[in-house]
Amino acid sequence: MQSSHIKHIAHQLGFDACGIARARRVDDEALNRYNSWLNQGKNGCMQWAAGNSELRDDPARLLPGAKSVIVVAMNYYPQRFQPKHAPQVAYYAYGRDYHEVVKKRLWQLASNIEQETGASSRACVDSAPLRERYWAQQAGVGFIGLNNQLIIPGRGSYFFLGVLLTTLELEPDEPCLQQCLQCHACEKACPTGALRCGDTVDARRCLSCLTIEHKGELPEWVDDVIGNRVYGCDTCQQCCPHNRDAVPTGIAEFHPSDLLLSLTRRQILDMTQPEFSRIFSHSAVKRAKLAGLQRNARLLSDDID
Ligand code: SF4
Ligand code: SF4
Repeated sequence: MQSSHIKHIAHQLGFDACGIARARRVDDEALNRYNSWLNQGKNGCMQWAAGNSELRDDPARLLPGAKSVIVVAMNYYPQRFQPKHAPQVAYYAYGRDYHEVVKKRLWQLASNIEQETGASSRACVDSAPLRERYWAQQAGVGFIGLNNQLIIPGRGSYFFLGVLLTTLELEPDEPCLQQCLQCHACEKACPTGALRCGDTVDARRCLSCLTIEHKGELPEWVDDVIGNRVYGCDTCQQCCPHNRDAVPTGIAEFHPSDLLLSLTRRQILDMTQPEFSRIFSHSAVKRAKLAGLQRNARLLSDDID
């Protein structure tokens, strides 16, 4: 089975990009950058980022005998948006939970590979300690911008990533050596200074991390910068020139429901647990839980509907 055939199947499954890297230990430069980020405590409330380093640094620990890392990307840029005065949900959470959507298709790709070659595979969509953006860069899919997002040349960063580790030996792609424009628009637009120090995001100050991952009350300074963000933050992607030509996703599962688009602050504040479960059971928003969403909604200014 050839790399080109795998890419053909990936495109048929709805993936917008697919690249292949050789499975080997993560290189020293990436390891050092990650460890320095951890040592500075910049992982904040994402304690899990500090664990499982043995697994995270070597794909063969996640899949014994892994020879190749297949990286896929799927567009989630919306074709309809929430009104500006509504409590904003990050675009990636507009539709159905990407873990479900991307993984289902990765399993189909794995099944094709297994049927044709007998090779075993492991699908990872944020579900294993794996450096998705690093592997996407190694597999030639894109480069990592100053905003820490994986940017696909000519297409931008509104893409979910999925990784299929496989024991099949495949012809790898060249790593993507392109760099972002270094315009610093993301750094200037970031409301919290989370990107101030250059090449790594400080999760302790990132609203995406704080509004989704943080448990309990948020630090007081968040009141002044949260703006209209009730779940996540897209600011450092919205201002990035690489996203200027983003096109809406063709994946129906990622289209926002009318319910999401008409969501108001009052609805969130009055929401009961059964209502939350009904509306968000197949959405990434469930990660914040009802308590987190209501905590965020309470901080929004009164001019947010
Ligand atoms: S997601 Fe928001 S808060 Fe986090 S780095 Fe980007 S702009 Fe800053
Ligand atoms: S906004 Fe500018 S500096 Fe930031 S990631 Fe995009 S191109 Fe790079």
